[in-house]
Amino acid sequence: MAGPRRGRSLVAALLLAPLLFFRLDDVFTSFSSRAPSTSLRRSSESVLVAPGKQTGQRLQLTLCQARGGDAKGSLVVIAGPPAAGKGTQCEKIKDKYGFVHISTGDILRENVKQETDLGLKAKGYMDSGALVPSELIVDLVKDRLTKDDVKEKGCLLDGFPRAPDQAEAMVDAGLKVEKFLVIKVPDDTLVERGCGRRLDPETGEIYHLKFRPPPEEVVDRLVHRSDDQEDKIRERLKNYHSQIDGITPFFKDVIYEVDGTGKPDQVFEIIEEDLDKL
Ligand code: AMP
Repeated sequence: MAGPRRGRSLVAALLLAPLLFFRLDDVFTSFSSRAPSTSLRRSSESVLVAPGKQTGQRLQLTLCQARGGDAKGSLVVIAGPPAAGKGTQCEKIKDKYGFVHISTGDILRENVKQETDLGLKAKGYMDSGALVPSELIVDLVKDRLTKDDVKEKGCLLDGFPRAPDQAEAMVDAGLKVEKFLVIKVPDDTLVERGCGRRLDPETGEIYHLKFRPPPEEVVDRLVHRSDDQEDKIRERLKNYHSQIDGITPFFKDVIYEVDGTGKPDQVFEIIEEDLDKL
């Protein structure tokens, strides 16, 4: 009797095996269109080796958590030297793709303005064009990235990571970056751009005395950021170049270099070409 029973079990196992593979494949397919990178597949597989009796839906949730958030919430980083036009491109990206825009520079400036503990600690570094120590900013960013709006809409992270240890902290926290945009512009062009840049504190509008002159009625209230003076810009450029080479290896599979020397709309077209594929 043992023989036929073993035979029936074998037949049942053979019939069920394809169903199991179909389920797993189904889960992979639903993610691969948004996240084709090998690291997702690697993290998925490590979750899949011991899933127990999870349903497809439960399994999908586990995979979402493995990639650091909801499947809808792509994490896109934008990097580039000071005055490369990141602010302008962020507005355009945000408008088209609906990402939550998180700028560590804006967060820090707001803290300086409100004279918070963080602001008081950060001010000296920012005024001199130096980087704020990573320990002041890393947890703040990690916390912000766990919020529901980021999981729902995705996030455009601007100004972070700015140092290799910040990149490493992101990887350690399991934050999965779908795209790392790097805007490229030669240094001398950047100095000219930065020196003429003016911010309207009431509207947030950014002008340039030569390339985008402000209307007469707002000129008096415009602010020339303390870190947009030539010596500060050069200092910030030096910092940027010394850090970026240590950051990009963490994201080498998802880097997209963007020529930032054209007009804002031309630069955006280059960015769109890539982000449309997400
Ligand atoms: P931004 O507006 O991005 O140019 O940032 C303005 C200044 O804020 C920088 O020059 C730094 O002093 C500081 N800052 C912004 N983001 C970071 C970061 N991720 N790490 C360290 N310092 C930062």
